[in-house]
Amino acid sequence: MKMREELDRDKGKEKKPKKKIKSYPILVISGFYIVLFAAMLFYIARYSYVNRQTLMNNNYNKRQQILLAQNSRGKILSRNGDVLAYTEEGSDGKDKRVYPYGKEFAHVVGYASNGKAGIEASANYYLINSGAELATKVKFDAEGHKYPGDTVTTTLDVTLQEVAYNALSARKGAIIVSNPKTGEILAMVSKPDFDPNYIAQEWDKMLADDSGDAQLLNRATQGLYPPGSTFKIITALAYLRDNNNDYSGYKYSCNGKFKDGEDVISCYHGENHGGVDFITSFAKSCNTSFANIGLSVSQKTFNQTLEELMFNSELPLSIAYTKSSATYDQDTPRGEIMQLSIGQGTTGMSPIHLNMITCAIANGGVLMKPYLVQSVTTEDKKTVASFEPETYKRLMTKEETDILTSMMVAVVEKGTASKLKGLSYTAAGKTGSAEFNSNSDSHAWFTGFAPADDPEICVTIIVENAGSGGSYAVPIAKRIFDAYFGVE
Ligand SMILES: [Zn+2]
Repeated sequence: MKMREELDRDKGKEKKPKKKIKSYPILVISGFYIVLFAAMLFYIARYSYVNRQTLMNNNYNKRQQILLAQNSRGKILSRNGDVLAYTEEGSDGKDKRVYPYGKEFAHVVGYASNGKAGIEASANYYLINSGAELATKVKFDAEGHKYPGDTVTTTLDVTLQEVAYNALSARKGAIIVSNPKTGEILAMVSKPDFDPNYIAQEWDKMLADDSGDAQLLNRATQGLYPPGSTFKIITALAYLRDNNNDYSGYKYSCNGKFKDGEDVISCYHGENHGGVDFITSFAKSCNTSFANIGLSVSQKTFNQTLEELMFNSELPLSIAYTKSSATYDQDTPRGEIMQLSIGQGTTGMSPIHLNMITCAIANGGVLMKPYLVQSVTTEDKKTVASFEPETYKRLMTKEETDILTSMMVAVVEKGTASKLKGLSYTAAGKTGSAEFNSNSDSHAWFTGFAPADDPEICVTIIVENAGSGGSYAVPIAKRIFDAYFGVE
């Protein structure tokens, strides 16, 4: 950051003095995230390399080689039957994997050469096996073709994927659209992206790229970001648990700054929210009130809430992801508790994790296991496997989710997501503007669902280095909700 400040000074710009106390921890975090992304990329490269080695040596791989010599890799379809990946015989007689939608589904569908990723990896077993009937196999034999591998039908929706992909435009970031009642993932976008049709040709170049783009990384599941104010959902839940769901007595007077010893928390862009209650603190995303709320919650309750919401632990996901991290132990200093309460400090969260928590709120507290594969069928349309919605676990009580939902509706009605107000559907959500450097530059977040009274879809969005969630992530959510509800 020092360098940036010097550059600015060189340009002769008058710069306001920095908020001193905030700059130290956030400076550290900025570096932390850059290192983290580089480490993830290294991990992917290393994993595929090591994987290639072990795969070449083990029996499973011998079996795979036999299957691939005999069967051509099966198709991957959208929920409506659009072909997302298929194999054709090249002019050289070798199989060639084709991805008709190119970059749009790059991370979620994945790739099947230079290692495997996405659905190509998680559904590999089905794709390389062929359950075709003998008569069908005889026919393919007679024509001199390999047997067709089984077809994997996903939960993905081409329309929603395209809307999400285009809405993120040239920005870096991630979007997840899912069904909270079933756990089906309808769309998953990550940018920067790559064209899976050219993965083999581009591979070395992508791995050597040290610009921080990390385009092979699926930011939706593997990206770890400061959650910013979206984390207030979790702080609010911890408060509700500490107070038997009674928030009626909460009052706070915001003057834009909250001081606790040496530590200071400021509201976004120094805004002064005046007198606020619990709901308004949330709707207006008042940082100082939430630092105050966070400090009032007992360590035991806060930490238990983090544990129950799957921080620092495994997530029920079939594709590669990174664990979210948030800590609050006996030794956590008050300054860090304040940062934790507003989703800053060392807290790191993946967009898919936030989407799961949002879905649980939308579904009365019960998290359905997220899934991407609906069914597997043979060339003769026989079903090999089908996957039904599955309950993962209850994350919250119904009473807690009723309160959180009304708070998230207030965010739309009178708070930071007002761009979703007055539409033909009622949306609920929470914005976030997560600072990642001492210049107060921020990632824009939104996580929410609609319709608020009977949620059908959940949307989680992060736009890197864009600005406020209300200005840059909420309009993307609106485009996705509009597309889903058929609003012109
Ligand atoms: Zn405030």
